Amino acid sequence: MKIAVISFHTSPLDPPGTGKSGGMNICISHLYRSLSRFCHTDIFTCGNKKPKRLAPSINVVYLDCGDINNFADTVLEYHNKQRYDVIHTHYWLSGIVGLRTRKKVKIPWIHSLHTVEMLKGVKKDHLRIKVEEEIIKSCDLIMSPTYKEAFSIREKYPHVRIITIPHGVDIQRFTPSLDGHSKLLYVGRIDPIKGLDLLIDSLRLLKRDIKLDIIGGPSKDKNNLESIKSYAENLPVKFLGPVKHEELNRYYKEASILVVPSYYESFGLVALEAMASARPVIGFEDTGLAETVGADAGILVKRNEQNLAQAISYLIENKELRHRLGETGRKKALNFEWNGIAWKYLRVYEKISEN
Ligand code: UDP
Repeated sequence: MKIAVISFHTSPLDPPGTGKSGGMNICISHLYRSLSRFCHTDIFTCGNKKPKRLAPSINVVYLDCGDINNFADTVLEYHNKQRYDVIHTHYWLSGIVGLRTRKKVKIPWIHSLHTVEMLKGVKKDHLRIKVEEEIIKSCDLIMSPTYKEAFSIREKYPHVRIITIPHGVDIQRFTPSLDGHSKLLYVGRIDPIKGLDLLIDSLRLLKRDIKLDIIGGPSKDKNNLESIKSYAENLPVKFLGPVKHEELNRYYKEASILVVPSYYESFGLVALEAMASARPVIGFEDTGLAETVGADAGILVKRNEQNLAQAISYLIENKELRHRLGETGRKKALNFEWNGIAWKYLRVYEKISEN
Protein backbone atom coordinates (compact mmCIF):
# COMPACT_ATOMS: atom_id res chain seq x y z
CA MET A 1 0.00 0.00 0.00
CA LYS A 2 1.44 3.36 -1.02
CA ILE A 3 0.04 6.51 0.53
CA ALA A 4 0.67 10.15 -0.30
CA VAL A 5 -0.03 12.25 2.79
CA ILE A 6 -0.36 16.00 2.45
CA SER A 7 0.40 18.10 5.51
CA PHE A 8 0.84 21.40 3.71
CA HIS A 9 1.25 23.97 6.46
CA THR A 10 3.17 22.01 9.10
CA SER A 11 5.60 19.10 9.17
CA PRO A 12 4.99 16.09 11.42
CA LEU A 13 8.58 16.63 12.53
CA ASP A 14 7.82 20.08 13.98
CA PRO A 15 7.69 20.07 17.80
CA PRO A 16 4.02 20.27 18.85
CA GLY A 17 2.47 22.74 21.25
CA THR A 18 3.58 26.02 19.74
CA GLY A 19 3.17 27.91 16.45
CA LYS A 20 1.20 25.90 13.90
CA SER A 21 2.10 22.55 15.38
CA GLY A 22 -0.28 20.63 17.62
CA GLY A 23 -2.41 17.53 17.71
CA MET A 24 -2.44 17.04 13.93
CA ASN A 25 1.35 16.68 13.89
CA ILE A 26 1.19 14.07 16.64
CA CYS A 27 -1.58 12.19 14.83
CA ILE A 28 0.23 12.10 11.51
CA SER A 29 3.55 10.97 12.94
CA HIS A 30 2.00 8.28 15.18
CA LEU A 31 -0.50 6.99 12.63
CA TYR A 32 2.01 6.44 9.82
CA ARG A 33 4.67 5.07 12.17
CA SER A 34 2.13 2.51 13.34
CA LEU A 35 1.35 1.67 9.71
CA SER A 36 4.97 1.47 8.62
CA ARG A 37 5.01 -2.34 8.46
CA PHE A 38 2.14 -2.30 5.99
CA CYS A 39 2.49 0.92 4.02
CA HIS A 40 5.00 3.04 2.21
CA THR A 41 4.15 6.65 3.04
CA ASP A 42 5.43 9.90 1.56
CA ILE A 43 4.39 12.91 3.66
CA PHE A 44 4.51 16.14 1.66
CA THR A 45 4.94 19.39 3.54
CA CYS A 46 6.20 22.95 3.05
CA GLY A 47 9.87 23.80 3.22
CA ASN A 48 13.19 23.68 1.47
CA LYS A 49 14.91 21.02 3.60
CA LYS A 50 16.24 17.70 2.35
CA PRO A 51 13.79 14.77 2.61
CA LYS A 52 13.84 13.12 6.03
CA ARG A 53 13.14 9.54 6.98
CA LEU A 54 10.61 9.23 9.81
CA ALA A 55 10.90 5.42 9.72
CA PRO A 56 12.25 2.99 7.08
CA SER A 57 9.10 3.25 4.94
CA ILE A 58 8.10 6.86 5.74
CA ASN A 59 9.61 9.88 4.05
CA VAL A 60 8.91 13.50 4.86
CA VAL A 61 9.29 15.40 1.58
CA TYR A 62 9.72 19.17 1.73
CA LEU A 63 8.37 21.09 -1.26
CA ASP A 64 8.37 24.76 -2.14
CA CYS A 65 4.98 26.14 -1.17
CA GLY A 66 5.21 29.59 -2.73
CA ASP A 67 2.44 28.47 -5.09
CA ILE A 68 0.03 25.80 -3.84
CA ASN A 69 -0.74 24.65 -7.41
CA ASN A 70 2.94 24.02 -8.10
CA PHE A 71 3.11 22.13 -4.81
CA ALA A 72 0.22 19.92 -6.01
CA ASP A 73 1.83 19.40 -9.42
CA THR A 74 5.07 18.24 -7.77
CA VAL A 75 3.06 15.75 -5.69
CA LEU A 76 1.68 14.45 -9.01
CA GLU A 77 5.21 14.08 -10.39
CA TYR A 78 5.97 11.84 -7.39
CA HIS A 79 2.74 9.96 -8.11
CA ASN A 80 3.87 9.27 -11.67
CA LYS A 81 6.85 7.41 -10.21
CA GLN A 82 5.33 5.94 -7.05
CA ARG A 83 1.73 5.22 -8.20
CA TYR A 84 0.07 5.97 -4.84
CA ASP A 85 -2.98 3.90 -3.93
CA VAL A 86 -4.44 6.68 -1.79
CA ILE A 87 -3.93 10.38 -1.21
CA HIS A 88 -4.81 11.55 2.33
CA THR A 89 -4.95 15.30 2.89
CA HIS A 90 -4.90 16.77 6.41
CA TYR A 91 -6.43 20.20 7.21
CA TRP A 92 -8.09 22.54 4.72
CA LEU A 93 -4.89 23.94 3.18
CA SER A 94 -3.82 20.43 2.23
CA GLY A 95 -7.35 19.94 0.93
CA ILE A 96 -6.63 22.65 -1.65
CA VAL A 97 -3.79 20.43 -2.87
CA GLY A 98 -6.30 17.57 -3.02
CA LEU A 99 -8.69 19.67 -5.13
CA ARG A 100 -5.92 20.44 -7.62
CA THR A 101 -4.71 16.84 -7.90
CA ARG A 102 -8.33 15.61 -8.26
CA LYS A 103 -8.69 17.78 -11.36
CA LYS A 104 -5.74 16.03 -13.00
CA VAL A 105 -5.82 12.41 -11.86
CA LYS A 106 -8.25 10.18 -9.96
CA ILE A 107 -6.33 8.76 -7.02
CA PRO A 108 -8.74 7.73 -4.20
CA TRP A 109 -8.81 10.84 -1.98
CA ILE A 110 -9.43 10.92 1.78
CA HIS A 111 -9.59 14.19 3.70
CA SER A 112 -9.28 14.82 7.46
CA LEU A 113 -10.54 18.27 8.42
CA HIS A 114 -8.96 18.30 11.94
CA THR A 115 -10.96 21.44 12.72
CA VAL A 116 -14.14 22.40 10.89
CA GLU A 117 -14.50 26.13 10.42
CA MET A 118 -18.32 26.16 10.17
CA LEU A 119 -18.57 24.35 13.52
CA LYS A 120 -16.41 26.79 15.45
CA GLY A 121 -18.43 28.97 17.75
CA VAL A 122 -16.10 31.92 17.26
CA LYS A 123 -15.60 34.48 14.49
CA LYS A 124 -15.48 32.48 11.29
CA ASP A 125 -13.27 32.66 8.20
CA HIS A 126 -15.78 32.62 5.33
CA LEU A 127 -13.24 31.85 2.62
CA ARG A 128 -12.16 28.78 4.58
CA ILE A 129 -15.78 27.65 5.01
CA LYS A 130 -16.25 27.83 1.22
CA VAL A 131 -13.06 25.92 0.52
CA GLU A 132 -13.91 23.25 3.12
CA GLU A 133 -17.31 22.87 1.48
CA GLU A 134 -15.69 22.28 -1.91
CA ILE A 135 -13.30 19.76 -0.38
CA ILE A 136 -16.13 17.91 1.40
CA LYS A 137 -18.09 17.71 -1.86
CA SER A 138 -15.13 16.66 -4.01
CA CYS A 139 -13.17 14.12 -1.99
CA ASP A 140 -14.10 10.43 -1.83
CA LEU A 141 -14.18 10.15 1.94
CA ILE A 142 -14.05 12.37 5.01
CA MET A 143 -12.46 11.02 8.18
CA SER A 144 -13.70 12.46 11.44
CA PRO A 145 -12.40 11.69 14.95
CA THR A 146 -15.82 11.92 16.65
CA TYR A 147 -19.37 10.83 15.84
CA LYS A 148 -20.62 14.21 16.97
CA GLU A 149 -18.50 16.03 14.37
CA ALA A 150 -19.41 13.49 11.69
CA PHE A 151 -23.09 13.98 12.50
CA SER A 152 -22.82 17.79 12.23
CA ILE A 153 -21.05 17.51 8.86
CA ARG A 154 -23.62 15.05 7.54
CA GLU A 155 -26.45 17.30 8.71
CA LYS A 156 -25.13 20.02 6.43
CA TYR A 157 -23.95 17.73 3.61
CA PRO A 158 -26.26 14.66 3.60
CA HIS A 159 -24.50 12.97 0.67
CA VAL A 160 -20.99 13.07 2.10
CA ARG A 161 -19.19 9.76 2.73
CA ILE A 162 -17.79 10.02 6.20
CA ILE A 163 -16.18 7.54 8.61
CA THR A 164 -15.38 8.09 12.28
CA ILE A 165 -12.08 6.83 13.64
CA PRO A 166 -10.84 8.47 16.85
CA HIS A 167 -7.27 9.63 17.26
CA GLY A 168 -4.94 7.44 19.28
CA VAL A 169 -2.64 7.78 22.25
CA ASP A 170 0.77 6.37 23.09
CA ILE A 171 -0.12 4.21 26.08
CA GLN A 172 3.52 3.31 26.67
CA ARG A 173 4.63 6.92 26.93
CA PHE A 174 1.66 8.10 28.99
CA THR A 175 1.34 5.73 31.95
CA PRO A 176 -0.45 5.83 35.30
CA SER A 177 1.22 6.81 38.56
CA LEU A 178 -0.06 7.56 42.04
CA ASP A 179 -1.71 10.93 42.36
CA GLY A 180 -0.56 12.71 45.48
CA HIS A 181 -0.71 16.18 44.06
CA SER A 182 -3.07 19.09 43.97
CA LYS A 183 -1.85 21.03 40.95
CA LEU A 184 -3.97 21.70 37.89
CA LEU A 185 -2.44 21.30 34.45
CA TYR A 186 -3.18 22.87 31.08
CA VAL A 187 -1.39 21.54 27.99
CA GLY A 188 -1.77 23.15 24.57
CA ARG A 189 -1.06 26.08 22.36
CA ILE A 190 -1.76 29.51 23.84
CA ASP A 191 -4.56 30.70 21.61
CA PRO A 192 -7.83 32.50 22.41
CA ILE A 193 -9.85 29.50 21.19
CA LYS A 194 -8.31 27.36 23.94
CA GLY A 195 -10.25 29.28 26.62
CA LEU A 196 -7.46 30.03 29.08
CA ASP A 197 -9.31 33.21 30.01
CA LEU A 198 -12.21 31.09 31.31
CA LEU A 199 -9.83 28.97 33.33
CA ILE A 200 -8.21 32.04 34.91
CA ASP A 201 -11.68 33.47 35.65
CA SER A 202 -12.66 30.25 37.36
CA LEU A 203 -9.51 30.24 39.52
CA ARG A 204 -10.28 33.77 40.58
CA LEU A 205 -13.80 32.72 41.59
CA LEU A 206 -12.40 29.94 43.76
CA LYS A 207 -10.60 32.40 46.00
CA ARG A 208 -8.13 29.77 47.19
CA ASP A 209 -4.59 28.89 46.31
CA ILE A 210 -5.00 26.32 43.59
CA LYS A 211 -1.82 26.06 41.57
CA LEU A 212 -1.97 25.84 37.78
CA ASP A 213 0.86 24.92 35.41
CA ILE A 214 0.42 26.03 31.82
CA ILE A 215 2.42 24.16 29.19
CA GLY A 216 2.62 25.33 25.58
CA GLY A 217 3.68 28.26 23.45
CA PRO A 218 1.73 30.90 21.53
CA SER A 219 0.09 29.71 18.31
CA LYS A 220 0.08 32.59 15.85
CA ASP A 221 0.11 35.81 17.79
CA LYS A 222 2.77 36.12 20.50
CA ASN A 223 0.68 38.87 22.14
CA ASN A 224 -1.79 36.21 23.27
CA LEU A 225 0.81 34.82 25.63
CA GLU A 226 1.60 38.22 27.10
CA SER A 227 -2.03 39.16 27.53
CA ILE A 228 -2.99 35.88 29.23
CA LYS A 229 0.07 36.21 31.48
CA SER A 230 -1.05 39.62 32.65
CA TYR A 231 -4.65 38.35 32.96
CA ALA A 232 -3.37 35.70 35.40
CA GLU A 233 -1.37 38.18 37.48
CA ASN A 234 -1.51 37.62 41.24
CA LEU A 235 -2.66 34.04 40.82
CA PRO A 236 -0.44 30.97 41.43
CA VAL A 237 -0.16 30.27 37.72
CA LYS A 238 3.14 29.19 36.14
CA PHE A 239 3.80 29.50 32.43
CA LEU A 240 6.28 26.75 31.62
CA GLY A 241 6.43 27.28 27.85
CA PRO A 242 6.44 24.43 25.31
CA VAL A 243 7.66 21.06 26.57
CA LYS A 244 9.08 18.35 24.29
CA HIS A 245 6.43 15.74 23.63
CA GLU A 246 8.82 13.02 24.85
CA GLU A 247 9.05 14.76 28.25
CA LEU A 248 5.38 15.59 28.76
CA ASN A 249 4.45 12.43 30.67
CA ARG A 250 6.34 13.78 33.70
CA TYR A 251 4.04 16.80 33.86
CA TYR A 252 0.87 14.70 33.71
CA LYS A 253 2.32 12.61 36.56
CA GLU A 254 2.95 15.71 38.67
CA ALA A 255 -0.56 17.07 38.16
CA SER A 256 -3.79 15.95 39.71
CA ILE A 257 -6.25 17.17 37.08
CA LEU A 258 -6.00 18.27 33.44
CA VAL A 259 -8.26 21.18 32.54
CA VAL A 260 -9.23 21.65 28.87
CA PRO A 261 -11.20 24.91 28.85
CA SER A 262 -11.37 25.22 25.02
CA TYR A 263 -14.24 27.07 23.35
CA TYR A 264 -13.88 24.60 20.48
CA GLU A 265 -12.09 21.26 20.57
CA SER A 266 -12.68 18.80 17.75
CA PHE A 267 -11.19 15.88 19.71
CA GLY A 268 -8.82 16.88 22.52
CA LEU A 269 -5.68 14.79 22.24
CA VAL A 270 -4.37 16.15 25.53
CA ALA A 271 -7.45 14.78 27.31
CA LEU A 272 -6.59 11.32 26.03
CA GLU A 273 -2.97 11.72 27.17
CA ALA A 274 -4.19 12.68 30.66
CA MET A 275 -6.55 9.69 30.69
CA ALA A 276 -3.71 7.35 29.69
CA SER A 277 -1.79 8.87 32.64
CA ALA A 278 -4.77 8.11 34.92
CA ARG A 279 -5.57 11.75 35.52
CA PRO A 280 -9.15 13.05 35.39
CA VAL A 281 -10.11 15.73 32.89
CA ILE A 282 -12.29 18.77 33.40
CA GLY A 283 -13.71 20.50 30.34
CA PHE A 284 -16.88 21.50 28.52
CA GLU A 285 -19.57 19.10 27.42
CA ASP A 286 -20.11 20.67 23.98
CA THR A 287 -16.60 19.76 22.76
CA GLY A 288 -15.05 16.57 21.38
CA LEU A 289 -14.25 15.62 25.00
CA ALA A 290 -17.84 14.37 25.28
CA GLU A 291 -16.75 11.28 23.35
CA THR A 292 -13.18 10.90 24.58
CA VAL A 293 -13.63 11.65 28.27
CA GLY A 294 -17.38 11.07 28.55
CA ALA A 295 -19.07 10.97 31.93
CA ASP A 296 -16.70 8.56 33.66
CA ALA A 297 -13.15 9.84 33.09
CA GLY A 298 -13.64 13.41 34.26
CA ILE A 299 -16.21 16.14 34.74
CA LEU A 300 -17.67 17.92 31.73
CA VAL A 301 -19.86 20.93 32.37
CA LYS A 302 -21.88 23.53 30.50
CA ARG A 303 -19.64 26.35 29.38
CA ASN A 304 -19.11 29.09 31.94
CA GLU A 305 -16.50 29.93 34.56
CA GLN A 306 -18.78 29.20 37.53
CA ASN A 307 -19.34 25.61 36.41
CA LEU A 308 -15.64 25.21 35.72
CA ALA A 309 -14.78 26.54 39.18
CA GLN A 310 -17.29 24.19 40.83
CA ALA A 311 -15.93 21.15 39.00
CA ILE A 312 -12.34 22.06 39.93
CA SER A 313 -13.19 22.62 43.57
CA TYR A 314 -15.20 19.37 43.75
CA LEU A 315 -12.40 17.25 42.32
CA ILE A 316 -9.62 18.93 44.30
CA GLU A 317 -11.50 18.08 47.50
CA ASN A 318 -12.42 14.57 46.45
CA LYS A 319 -9.30 12.48 46.09
CA GLU A 320 -11.12 9.19 45.93
CA LEU A 321 -13.28 10.33 43.03
CA ARG A 322 -10.18 11.67 41.27
CA HIS A 323 -8.60 8.24 41.52
CA ARG A 324 -11.71 6.49 40.28
CA LEU A 325 -12.05 8.78 37.28
CA GLY A 326 -8.32 8.45 36.58
CA GLU A 327 -8.46 4.65 36.67
CA THR A 328 -11.45 4.60 34.34
CA GLY A 329 -9.64 7.06 32.07
CA ARG A 330 -6.65 4.71 31.79
CA LYS A 331 -8.93 1.76 31.00
CA LYS A 332 -10.71 3.78 28.32
CA ALA A 333 -7.45 5.10 26.88
CA LEU A 334 -6.27 1.53 26.25
CA ASN A 335 -8.97 1.33 23.55
CA PHE A 336 -7.28 4.22 21.75
CA GLU A 337 -3.87 2.59 21.47
CA TRP A 338 -2.29 3.73 18.19
CA ASN A 339 -1.73 0.27 16.67
CA GLY A 340 -5.42 -0.52 16.96
CA ILE A 341 -6.41 2.85 15.54
CA ALA A 342 -3.91 2.48 12.67
CA TRP A 343 -5.39 -0.93 11.87
CA LYS A 344 -8.79 0.71 11.34
CA TYR A 345 -7.19 3.24 8.98
CA LEU A 346 -5.48 0.44 7.06
CA ARG A 347 -8.85 -1.27 6.47
CA VAL A 348 -10.23 2.02 5.14
CA TYR A 349 -7.20 2.57 2.88
CA GLU A 350 -7.48 -0.98 1.53
CA LYS A 351 -11.18 -0.70 0.89
CA ILE A 352 -11.05 2.64 -0.86
CA SER A 353 -8.14 1.62 -3.07
CA GLU A 354 -9.95 -1.59 -4.14
CA ASN A 355 -12.81 0.46 -5.56
N1 UDP B 1 2.03 19.27 23.12
C1 UDP B 1 3.38 19.02 23.37
N2 UDP B 1 4.11 19.97 24.02
C2 UDP B 1 3.59 21.13 24.45
C3 UDP B 1 2.21 21.38 24.24
C4 UDP B 1 1.46 20.41 23.57
O1 UDP B 1 3.91 17.96 23.01
O2 UDP B 1 4.31 21.95 25.01
C5 UDP B 1 1.24 18.25 22.39
C6 UDP B 1 0.19 17.59 23.26
O3 UDP B 1 0.78 16.56 24.02
C7 UDP B 1 -0.80 17.09 22.22
C8 UDP B 1 -0.72 18.15 21.14
O4 UDP B 1 0.49 18.87 21.36
O5 UDP B 1 -0.41 15.84 21.73
C9 UDP B 1 -1.90 19.11 21.19
O6 UDP B 1 -3.02 18.48 20.68
P1 UDP B 1 -4.52 18.98 20.90
O7 UDP B 1 -5.39 18.18 19.99
O8 UDP B 1 -4.87 18.93 22.33
O9 UDP B 1 -4.50 20.52 20.48
P2 UDP B 1 -4.25 21.29 19.10
O10 UDP B 1 -2.97 22.02 19.27
O11 UDP B 1 -4.18 20.30 17.99
O12 UDP B 1 -5.42 22.20 18.97
